[in-house]
Amino acid sequence: MKNWLKNKIARSYELLGKISRQRQALVNTVVVLTYHGVIPSDMMYNGRHFFEYRNVVTTEEFDRQMTHLKNYYTPISVNDFQNLPGQNTDKPYVVVTFDDGFENNYLYAFPILKKHGITGHFFLTTNFMGSRKLLWTEEVTYRVLHARSSALTLHINGEPIHISLSSEKRREAASIALRKQLKLQSRRVIEEVLEELRKATPELNSVELPRTRYQFMSWEQAREMHREGMVLGSHTTDHFLLNNLNEQEVRETLTRSKQQLETELKAPCTVFSYPNGERENFSQRDEKILDELGFQYAFTQIPGFNPVHTLTNKKFDIYRINISHFMTGPVFHAVITGLWKY
Ligand SMILES: [Zn+2]
Repeated sequence: MKNWLKNKIARSYELLGKISRQRQALVNTVVVLTYHGVIPSDMMYNGRHFFEYRNVVTTEEFDRQMTHLKNYYTPISVNDFQNLPGQNTDKPYVVVTFDDGFENNYLYAFPILKKHGITGHFFLTTNFMGSRKLLWTEEVTYRVLHARSSALTLHINGEPIHISLSSEKRREAASIALRKQLKLQSRRVIEEVLEELRKATPELNSVELPRTRYQFMSWEQAREMHREGMVLGSHTTDHFLLNNLNEQEVRETLTRSKQQLETELKAPCTVFSYPNGERENFSQRDEKILDELGFQYAFTQIPGFNPVHTLTNKKFDIYRINISHFMTGPVFHAVITGLWKY
């Protein structure tokens, strides 16, 4: 469906009062939003593949979204979770989170959050701080979208897979399919396939990635946000999904990223968000390890809402709504009530 049509339909929901009725049903519920990037509209895209920007919101839209949250929700932080039961409120609670740790979060989202007095939660990929390396998931997308050749052959566990890159649509579909396959593999297999993909697309090795999209924030920037009351947490050291790792590797990445955050910020790190975060990307094994290491809450990417009374039993299983570039205006209003399933 075209974006203008979605907006028109969502606007009619709004006029009919459907969105506000749905929102009313979320009183005593915590709505958690996931963002990845915020970039001024004139710095977005720049003739590149729009697909790379699908999870990036413009600063203008982000500002409007935060105004909406201030007006119709009660923005809170994870530190408020324990005090929520028994409170008398007439609005749903909302928590604003960011995954991965991009510098654009600091440059463009942080000032808007401060202006509105909203606490942002930033989950950092700690080995990427200050760098412009690609997360493995993004490297797969990047190389498949930008490869010079019109076809690729890769091997997963010795099995050849042939990828057609003859059109933009095919490249997008191929990047989704390849990521999906790799997300189920072990770290070793993913690294092998990445190496093969790098060898097949050497023309991309020296390309400079656009800073606004791919630069990770520095520890200095993270410290400033922490001083200003933002919450910073772990998103692992290298963005391998926990299901890509064996138990020892999970322990290592969680322990190390927590230590890095605590050393750099001189404060306890007690919150985590699962890379990819869907049901198949973590298990009870991982929840147990998080608990042992002293984490208090972990955020998934399972779409849904968190009634206040469920927070104590589901502390490593908090549901979130992902906000993409396409959820503008009334569509955003509808999506975050669950009226519109994206
Ligand atoms: Zn991530």
